[in-house]
Amino acid sequence: MKKKTGKRKDKRVVKLPNVAVDGPSGAGKSTVAKLAAARLGLIYVDTGALYRTVGLYMLENGVDPDDAEAVGAALPDVRISLTFEDGRQILSLGGEEVGDRIRTEDASRYASAVSKIPAVRAFLLEEQQKLVRQGGIIMDGRDIGTVIMPDADVKIYYTAAASTRAERRYKEQREKGIEITYEEVLAAIEARDKQDSEREIAPLRPADDAVIFESDDYTIEECVERVCAIIRERTNGRV
Ligand code: C5P
Repeated sequence: MKKKTGKRKDKRVVKLPNVAVDGPSGAGKSTVAKLAAARLGLIYVDTGALYRTVGLYMLENGVDPDDAEAVGAALPDVRISLTFEDGRQILSLGGEEVGDRIRTEDASRYASAVSKIPAVRAFLLEEQQKLVRQGGIIMDGRDIGTVIMPDADVKIYYTAAASTRAERRYKEQREKGIEITYEEVLAAIEARDKQDSEREIAPLRPADDAVIFESDDYTIEECVERVCAIIRERTNGRV
């Protein structure tokens, strides 16, 4: 019998890490997570966009987003497709790209309302877990470290004071020519925080093992550097 002499090929595949980034709206976590993903060679997944797309469907089809029964009954008709092109996430609804239609104030409000409904969370769960199984993602949302990826390699809770978030959002809105006062922006942010953190299902809260990152005093570039440093440190140089 021929004796095997050659070195055995090591077939172990080093799986890329998964990173969960949770936090309230307007803290800049999407911008920073996207830049960090590009820098570390990971894929950025924006889960808020999924809830926004479900919200958009209800908005465009005259379904009351606070009526759980009506939303649940409409869900089978919501055809969402999530793909990636050059690292960019593309979401389509009924075969048509949603683009900026999911970024309006109305769509934000609808997204927040439908995200409280258990049937909606169950509907989007498999879509998110498919990506988790592939590995190598930075996924941002509200319940990623607590529900979607409890075993994530790194969990970051990315936050900023409501006033800081309102100032940033107010500036953005004014730059777009939108007539709105700072007080209105702050009130909308506080209402959304309350709704996201007080809901019964998957409330916004840091996972017990999350690193809390307060972004108030840093520039975007500094935030990206710090987030990348946290990820590198916690994955022992796997990225
Ligand atoms: O992150 P973004 O502001 O785009 O999310 C839109 C809405 O979707 C949030 O107000 C939140 O209520 C909901 N959401 C959620 N769980 C996630 C991501 C977003 O409930 N994982």
